Amino acid sequence: MKVMKFGGTSVGSAERIRNVAALVQQAGRQVVVLSAMSGTTNTLVEIADYLYNRNTDGARETIKRLESKYLKVAAELFASEEVRSQAEKGIQDTFTALLGITRELFGPVQERIVLAQGELLSTRLMELYLQEQGVQVLMLPALSFMRLDAQGEPDLPYIKEHLLPLLEQPAQVYLTQGYICRNSHDEVDNLQRGGSDYTASLIGAAIGAEEIQIWTDIDGMHNNDPRVVDHTEAVRHLHFDEAAELAYFGAKILHPTCIQPAKYANIPVRLLNTMKPDAPGTLIDNKPEPGTIKAVAAKDNITAIKIKSSRMLLAHGFLRKVFEIFESYRTPIDMICTSEVGVSVTVDNTRYLTEIVRELKRYGTVTVDLDMCIVCVVGDMDWENIGFESRVLAAMKDIPVRMVGYGGSNFNISLLVRAEDKDRTLQSLSRYLFL
Ligand code: ASP
Ligand code: MG
Repeated sequence: MKVMKFGGTSVGSAERIRNVAALVQQAGRQVVVLSAMSGTTNTLVEIADYLYNRNTDGARETIKRLESKYLKVAAELFASEEVRSQAEKGIQDTFTALLGITRELFGPVQERIVLAQGELLSTRLMELYLQEQGVQVLMLPALSFMRLDAQGEPDLPYIKEHLLPLLEQPAQVYLTQGYICRNSHDEVDNLQRGGSDYTASLIGAAIGAEEIQIWTDIDGMHNNDPRVVDHTEAVRHLHFDEAAELAYFGAKILHPTCIQPAKYANIPVRLLNTMKPDAPGTLIDNKPEPGTIKAVAAKDNITAIKIKSSRMLLAHGFLRKVFEIFESYRTPIDMICTSEVGVSVTVDNTRYLTEIVRELKRYGTVTVDLDMCIVCVVGDMDWENIGFESRVLAAMKDIPVRMVGYGGSNFNISLLVRAEDKDRTLQSLSRYLFL
């Protein structure tokens, strides 16, 4: 069985819901995971903010506005009077309950109940629409099987135990909510913003799905930035670890935590586009493609910091002191390069840059390079393969390179260049690696 997950924009209007229903109907027996309609979770967050700030009027107005949006969708979506009034009743019940919450004392428990309503609404609309279309659909309430353990991590054994029996009931489409779950106190909770992908991955792992499909309305991954490079190609296949490398570069790829359950259960994940449903998309799995370079991606707004100190020569504990400074300002380090007398690191968060630099000066001479850019080459770069390092470096022969990172994983080489050199770096890498 497959798992198909559709994001917020894919179910963002009556027309888009119909479009998803058509895709689902063609797909055979499967579990369908839906996000909230686009914009809904943000509006629910806004409602919660009003309630935390004791602005009940603001909350009520926003609730009413959201309700009328849903009533409009229902009016447009259903052909039959009877189904429409069933949907309207569901919508009204949800929003009456939300109004009820505005009269209670508001805290995190209430907040998470508010946030859960988006996925409950989108799946209810889809359920009714599929029924109207004569599809045999069964709702699997996420709140009855999706669960966090005492550490706040998804509880896979519990999920399996409570989900598998539900799938024994016959249906063509098993429909469920992304994002929402219960915690170990049995309270309504969620898997964090964007968590519907995580739901799909957990369900795929729990049922041993043949494939997890993540449907969005964005165009798939390219092997280089199509805005900068003339000839780019779609990336058809990635190893899970290559996908994880690319996630930092804002590639249209899933967050590594979300795909972890799929990776460990060895379930392939396919990224697909609802606007081009016949395109093959990008397949992510555990199969390496020996010697293949898959993609080049870039990340802007990087700052490099170099600490040079002759005290570092043959000393131990120097790096720890340097890293501790970054840690104490909760600033993640991305690239690192060291020599015997110096270390360079990059950060993308410069909130505490002044403080960090001031403290680093206790240990050495500090240089900061602003407006840098990390360009990363991703593919099968096992160190025993030969040739790819020289191709990457040959591509950089006319471009100043501030740092090179290689050997941290088997799947990447990173180059730090000036922001102004980014485009020609991407173009040159494209020529040397892909043409
Ligand atoms: N609706 C939730 C959000 O907007 C979860 C998701 O869409 O994945 O964050
Ligand atoms: Mg989303």
